[in-house]
Amino acid sequence: MSRTVYVNGSYLPEEEATVSIFDRGFLFADAVYEVTSVVRGKLIDFDGHMARLRRSLGELALSSPVSDEEMLAIHRELVTRNDIDEGLIYLQVTRGSAGDRDFAFPPADTKPTLVLFTQAKKVIENPAAGTGLKVISIDDIRWGRCDIKTVQLLYPCLAKMAAKHAHVDDAWMVRDGLVTEGSSNNAYIVTSEGTIVTREKSQSILHGITRAATLRLAEEKGLKVEERGFSIEEAKNAREAFITSASLFVMPVVEIDGAAIGEGRPGELSRRLREIYIEDALKTAI
Ligand code: PLP
Repeated sequence: MSRTVYVNGSYLPEEEATVSIFDRGFLFADAVYEVTSVVRGKLIDFDGHMARLRRSLGELALSSPVSDEEMLAIHRELVTRNDIDEGLIYLQVTRGSAGDRDFAFPPADTKPTLVLFTQAKKVIENPAAGTGLKVISIDDIRWGRCDIKTVQLLYPCLAKMAAKHAHVDDAWMVRDGLVTEGSSNNAYIVTSEGTIVTREKSQSILHGITRAATLRLAEEKGLKVEERGFSIEEAKNAREAFITSASLFVMPVVEIDGAAIGEGRPGELSRRLREIYIEDALKTAI
């Protein structure tokens, strides 16, 4: 069944939605995006996603086509029109089209392009949560501003393909001997003492909205959190490992580069954090 999508002020059947071939998102990946989860028809951590969107836009001197209130209204309208109970909403803002190709930014009054669409998906009852994910490690050769959520996602696509060819689920990226993050998620280990370890915030990782919520909830539950880098060797010897993202929530990792983590099954703390996260998300969704 055809979805209704949003393009620059219009709700359209997906087959009729178009963007210019001169759009800078298409030509230069000159665009930022957000992905917000929907559960029971409600949006998870919408304010967090909007705050990060504003920051990404600001870092690239991109202007926003609509206010946060209008953004919320568009999200809700798409949920209603597409009858989304569980799934995702993808949002992209580009620097628009100058009607030609030129590396320099177009005039400041060029209209940004705004596109949103929905994806129906089981986000809570994801069967992968029961088995856990397997990952490989690869070099992190991305640019130096991974904290900005741009649509330059070619390397993460190559990372996913490397994982696919290795018959695993994802790849953890490593720079200077330490894991930065997963191809589209933040990466964590749990030490033998039960401490949750994840890379500190910097320009080397995306500041995950799910990461922020998970760390806040972990600390509220009295769990110990350490924000620092860890190596693949340390991860292989960890008690547990997991990832977080808006689409996967907290998802256990059970194997890294062929080595089983802990018992090779989703760890107790990872499973508990997933439950805590989902409980909180259901309570706070809008
Ligand atoms: N890191 C990267 C590279 C990502 O692409 C994503 C999500 O797309 C994340 C982390 C997780 O961020 P969030 O929890 O906001 O989805």
